[in-house]
Amino acid sequence: MTGTAGGFGFEVVTRLDGDRHGRAGVIHTPHGDVRTPAFVPVGTKATVKAVLPEMLAQLGAQAVLANAFHLYLQPGPAIVEAAGGLGAFMNWPGPTFTDSGGFQVMSLGAGFKKVIAMEVSTLKTDDAASARGRKRLSRVDEDGVGFRSPIDGSKHRFTPEVSMGVQHALGADIIFAFDELTTLVNTREYQESSVERTERWAQRCLDEHALLTAGRSGKPYQALFGVVQGAQYEDLRRAACRGLAAMRTEAGDGFDGYGIGGALEKHAIGEIVGWCASELPEDAPRHLLGISEPEDVFAAVEAGADTFDCVMPSRVARNGAIYTASGRYNVDQARCRTDFTPLEDGCDCYTCEHYTKAYLHHLFKGKEMLAATLATIHNERFTVRLVDAIRDAILQGTFDEFRAEFLGGYRRRT
Ligand SMILES: [Zn+2]
Repeated sequence: MTGTAGGFGFEVVTRLDGDRHGRAGVIHTPHGDVRTPAFVPVGTKATVKAVLPEMLAQLGAQAVLANAFHLYLQPGPAIVEAAGGLGAFMNWPGPTFTDSGGFQVMSLGAGFKKVIAMEVSTLKTDDAASARGRKRLSRVDEDGVGFRSPIDGSKHRFTPEVSMGVQHALGADIIFAFDELTTLVNTREYQESSVERTERWAQRCLDEHALLTAGRSGKPYQALFGVVQGAQYEDLRRAACRGLAAMRTEAGDGFDGYGIGGALEKHAIGEIVGWCASELPEDAPRHLLGISEPEDVFAAVEAGADTFDCVMPSRVARNGAIYTASGRYNVDQARCRTDFTPLEDGCDCYTCEHYTKAYLHHLFKGKEMLAATLATIHNERFTVRLVDAIRDAILQGTFDEFRAEFLGGYRRRT
């Protein structure tokens, strides 16, 4: 679907040259525009941990992505809805996203980490992805996923309809279809049946979304993105994209955009995004779920990803890992104890303008809460600024030069 249904729309401003699908554009939402490519910080439970929304806006974040599964468990979608929706509840006036909860529900049965980019070599067997040594907390069937709450063990069920209901109550501007997540070590046969099930679930999401949208007059339009699965298989990814692109409600409405989900091997990110971008409608935005490492960002943007989210910049910040243009380092290491320079020379973030490595080192050693806040501000600013610079380079026709320069410096010391 294109145009500006209820305040939602997407425009492509400039494309990369050659047969590449990367581009700069603008996503319009009822709560403001997102200039793309854009990095979307993750506020899983309606908060980007340790950071005030005002500071997030100041460091250049354009949107925030929260998680339907976590907000379903606590405080419950009815409370967020009664507060006026996710943005009002968390005091974030800009655009918001929620992911469907599928990832977290499946992860209860799979036991892998929240970051999608993974190395197959670290997964030893098919079972490595299936809750090794842990009680399996979720089971997938044709209708949806039954699971036990990781908070209190109570029984729950997520289906496409439940996910849509939860995400409509949460009220984010961009929401995602409920999909089945597989891992890189599931068999080809399982991947095929999973892609087919995800497609059936996508149709149910689209139909339920249309019903719920019709019933929410007076509230801002929520854009629904279909999610492409298919793991590392080109034919499965392409078929999944064609299926989602052609999917319609009885009234003829399709998806407003597309998410590229599932496990991606790090070296294959560009290739897989490229397959999807060449099959998906050119005039719809594409979101890549779960990447933020600089080389992954360049590869994904070049191949056609418009927005992406990741917990990594804030998660590693809370452990003292600091991103810089020359690579990552830990500020709790001994050499930072007496270093009175900023976390990164030349960084324009609040932390670097006011504090030193020695102070951050002290905060981390003392387990002070401010450590997480200051480190998170820097890492989120680093990622937002990198993606802003990539967008500028696309607009100026200097993407390749900028990538060579940036990654040359980034790799040299990592
Ligand atoms: Zn900084």
